[in-house]
Formats: sequence, C-alpha cells, structure tokens
Amino acid sequence: MDDPEQDDSAERRRPGRGDRRSLDPLPIDDLVPDAPWFWWSTMRNCLPGCCGLDAFDFSAESVRHASGHDVALYPISLGHRQAPGDPIALAAELRSSARRVRELDAKAVSASQFDDTLSPDAMADLFEDLADKLEAAGSAN
Ligand SMILES: [Zn+2]
Repeated sequence: MDDPEQDDSAERRRPGRGDRRSLDPLPIDDLVPDAPWFWWSTMRNCLPGCCGLDAFDFSAESVRHASGHDVALYPISLGHRQAPGDPIALAAELRSSARRVRELDAKAVSASQFDDTLSPDAMADLFEDLADKLEAAGSAN
C-alpha cells in the first residue's frame, strides 16, 4: 500500500508524454496518407491513444499482411484487418510525405494517427521504411 491513489495521474500512466509535449510539436496530420486499410490493419499491439507508435506492428511481415499476403498465417490485428488497398500507391504517398516532413523547420512533429511525437527525420525515416516494405509487398503479387 505504498502506492497512494493520487499518484495514478495521467502523467504517471504515460511517462514521457509531458516531456514530449514540451517540445511543442508541429502537427503533420495532412502529411499522413489517408489509408485506413493500412493503419488499422497494422494496429496489432495496442491503440495509439495508449501506446503511440508502439501500438503498430510495422514489421515487413505485418506490412505484407496488411497488403493482402499471408492472411491465414498472420491474422491478428486489434484495429481489425481491412481489405487491402494499393501498396505501391501508398508507398509513393509516403515517400512524398517523407520529403516534405524532412523540410519542415521543427524540432518535433506529431500525428494524431499515431498519437505520438517524433523528430522530423525520424518520422521521415519511418515513412520511407514503410514505403520500402509496401513496395516489396506490392511487387510480390
Ligand atoms: Zn497500450
């Protein structure tokens, strides 16, 4: 009982969030491709409101599954798997967004899709990594 109830604050449940907010991140929602089929299907670990980017599984296998491959082998998606869209088209959008994010004059960027904050370079790296995996999945048809 050495854990008083008043310690159960939002700050305590989400350590680091306060620090990240103090970076005053620039919202980049308009640069996150509108692809519910991809974001929902890769939401395997938790929900963004709880875990931020850690809610997603962006492994090559997970991206392949979201793109319509290996469906029987990899069925779990907390966000509910959606009918796959066009992985090549999404890869092109992500590469375009990555270029624009890298040019932003900001210490940090945030996206409500992920409920998370990264440096612009880290966000751009993430988009490019996803584009690589989507292109591999798309060309495997
Ligand atoms: Zn969580």
